[in-house]
Amino acid sequence: MDINVDSIKERLKEEGYKLTTQRRAILDAIIENSGSHLSPEEIYEVVKLKYPEIGLATVYRTLQLFEQLDIVCKLNFDDGCNRYELNSDSNDHHHHHLICLNCGKVIEVKLDLLENLEYEIEREGKFKIVDHNVKFFGYCIECRDK
Ligand SMILES: [Zn+2]
Ligand SMILES: [Zn+2]
Ligand SMILES: [Zn+2]
Repeated sequence: MDINVDSIKERLKEEGYKLTTQRRAILDAIIENSGSHLSPEEIYEVVKLKYPEIGLATVYRTLQLFEQLDIVCKLNFDDGCNRYELNSDSNDHHHHHLICLNCGKVIEVKLDLLENLEYEIEREGKFKIVDHNVKFFGYCIECRDK
């Protein structure tokens, strides 16, 4: 994934925020672990290694800010916590998630046949769709044969 930290910096600046050291550290933790869908607690564990003075409350607050500015999106895999990942460019379709019910692994899929469905729904004229978010539940290769 191509991540442009400068554009994120710009995004913050537009809204009157600075990319402070702590915000940068949290952003880096998300970028370096992209594909892992970290929870706030996991992000905190990563950032703490470099910045022991950071508090969990700061991580929560920063994630909230990032979410508000569309820098990250919040995911819920029904495993009892919120998880975060970087928002991809809006012109580039986001991915969907396959969630293993046994080991909790999350696999990303790019395949997307939902544009047709969106088109059909919009054609009825009662709703304008701007996005969708799909989760598939099942068993990964390692768990499938157990
Ligand atoms: Zn599994
Ligand atoms: Zn993902
Ligand atoms: Zn999609």
